[in-house]
Amino acid sequence: MADIIYTYHNSVYLNITNKCPCRCVFCIRDKADAIGEAENLFHETEPTTEEIKDAIDRFDFGGKDTAVFCGYGEPTNALDNLIKSAEYLKEKFPEIKLRLNTNGLSDLINERETVKEICAHFDSVSISLNDVSSEEYDKITRNIYPGKAYEAMLKFARYCVNEGVETRLSVVDVIGEEKIKKAKEIADSIGADFLCRKYDR
Ligand code: SF4
Repeated sequence: MADIIYTYHNSVYLNITNKCPCRCVFCIRDKADAIGEAENLFHETEPTTEEIKDAIDRFDFGGKDTAVFCGYGEPTNALDNLIKSAEYLKEKFPEIKLRLNTNGLSDLINERETVKEICAHFDSVSISLNDVSSEEYDKITRNIYPGKAYEAMLKFARYCVNEGVETRLSVVDVIGEEKIKKAKEIADSIGADFLCRKYDR
């Protein structure tokens, strides 16, 4: 069975699904079966709620202050399990902060507004902005909603800010300085934090 919980640079990550509506050009899944201390992050079958709770029960969270739902996939593709396992983790370890790393396409994936229920269970949300226009975003993410994914992602981010959770938009430095500057302006304009990640070659 693939790892549901793993550590990477001393942080804890939960890998609750491999599903994703994108096929990003830089996706780590195309390069390796696992990262950090995980051995294999590709599930043979999608984990059930019980399997995720069992993994939480078995994992030693001692000394950890944050758990990140990130996955080898898009966590909101398993929304029900995401909410239930976040709730379970918070009940067991109220001191641990929960972060969601997401492509921000949950409303399209789940065909309804999902920000309120997500934000009710998370302390922070990190959303991949990727680029500064819908066309470029579609090229980078190769998502299944061309023409509407970028706006949906920005709306998701705005709603997260409105819900009062710590919200961050991120890009990878390969887009170049000019676009990085514009991306920061977009983050500023909606009241989100901004992170420019280094491309991990
Ligand atoms: S959204 Fe994340 S998991 Fe999905 S393809 Fe892009 S980088 Fe990979």
